[in-house]
Amino acid sequence: MKHLDELTFDNRYARLGDAFSTSVLPEPILNPRLVVASEAAMQLLDLDPGEAQSEVFAELFSGHKLWAEAEPRAMVYSGHQFGSYNPRLGDGRGLLLGEVCNDAGEYWDLHLKGAGQTPYSRMGDGRAVLRSSIREFLASEALQALGIPSSRALCVIGSDTPVWREKQERGAMLLRLAQSHVRFGHFEYFYYTKQPEQQQILAEHVLATHFPQCQEQPEPYLAMYREIVERNAELIALWQAYGFCHGVMNTDNMSILGITFDFGPFAFLDDFDANFICNHSDDQGRYSFSNQVPIAHWNLAALAQALTPFISVEALREVLGMFLPLYQAHYLDLMRRRLGLTTAEDDDIKLVERLLQLMQNSGVDYSLFFRRLGDEPAESALKRLRDDFIDLNGFDAWATDYLARLQREGTADDPQRTARMHAVNPLYVLRNYLAQKAIDAAEKGDYEEVRRLHAVLTKPFETQSGMEAYAERPPEWGKHLEISCSS
Ligand code: AMP
Ligand code: MG
Repeated sequence: MKHLDELTFDNRYARLGDAFSTSVLPEPILNPRLVVASEAAMQLLDLDPGEAQSEVFAELFSGHKLWAEAEPRAMVYSGHQFGSYNPRLGDGRGLLLGEVCNDAGEYWDLHLKGAGQTPYSRMGDGRAVLRSSIREFLASEALQALGIPSSRALCVIGSDTPVWREKQERGAMLLRLAQSHVRFGHFEYFYYTKQPEQQQILAEHVLATHFPQCQEQPEPYLAMYREIVERNAELIALWQAYGFCHGVMNTDNMSILGITFDFGPFAFLDDFDANFICNHSDDQGRYSFSNQVPIAHWNLAALAQALTPFISVEALREVLGMFLPLYQAHYLDLMRRRLGLTTAEDDDIKLVERLLQLMQNSGVDYSLFFRRLGDEPAESALKRLRDDFIDLNGFDAWATDYLARLQREGTADDPQRTARMHAVNPLYVLRNYLAQKAIDAAEKGDYEEVRRLHAVLTKPFETQSGMEAYAERPPEWGKHLEISCSS
């Protein structure tokens, strides 16, 4: 286990030069203090968990101190926001402090979000508020614990720096970890600014550092694009299967690694609602829950467009065409598991879709349904769950077909059923109202609830004694929280 001053930096992205990022120093926030840290994320850097309590920890992640080997840089990128191309985005409030290489030889970007203005801040103040920093922290670590690839969060540091949003709030910084911060928008930037040499340097860098296996392929760039399509198909299947709504799927918020990235107004579904829009500013519902699938496809097409200098349009089109079938196969596989099915039958997707429609019509809690379905033998579980549905005939017909399906594969009374289903159906999810309660306390200076909620969410599949309150349906006020883009 290492101390903070023992990290090994190797800043590969910074070395690409000024066409790719700009050197900027963090602007410190006032009276920094630790709000919450993730031990699991610290382990990725081989950091001793005790380091989070040191004064220097809060100083390093609030812009007051810097490692001698760090080279803070604001990255340049562009992207499609709500369908329209924005030619110049970039890190407007975050800085890539450097890349740390751990003992296993893995590289982690240290990205400090809320670090002050940069040449890409446009009209923004360069800051992040405590509320949104806590939300990103909790979601990163909760997604990871659910087995959904995501950027990670090392810590949130709170402060007395005033920040104006709809009202005065307090500034905070989030230390984000990811193996890469390259977005679809990085490729779009060099494509639309017509800088083919720089674009090639970027592509070579990404290929060598993140897709080395593709270098052996006859067409390395095409192989890389295929892998990006595959990873995103898998990721979106996980979001849809677990009810995660990203909220701002602009191409600048899409990671080339296929990890959940840059989520602000995200939400996990409470009641199942295919049309759910978690981002209050998304009037058209472009990023509604069910639209995430076609939007991911749209975003991959935008990336394909940016790669046309390297790859033929026909080849790109063919690979892009793999997205939907790949997504469908992953999604069905995940939903079979969530239903406790161990074999595959042709009509399984219909069983899933009928259930979702019934849940939608009756406003059934998405996460708890699957958890409870695995609590006991199928027949008794179905009897208990029946009360949650309004269309009882519809539910009975579905339950009959589901039971028959289990009987055909012989798992209706399988003693392993509960263990198998509980291992894939979380009891604890990051519901908006749980995050909001923790934020309300943190804004008054009490960080205990953030820490407790974080701890609960790190073991989402295990029943934790005394934590029953975290596994309940939200109260009525908690279902209608409005989460805006402002963060
Ligand atoms: P987001 O919607 O958070 O992904 O941000 C979109 C763009 O706006 C990115 O280029 C951000 O860096 C930038 N941005 C967001 N908030 C701020 C802020 N408070 N100050 C400066 N830039 C910001
Ligand atoms: Mg963003």
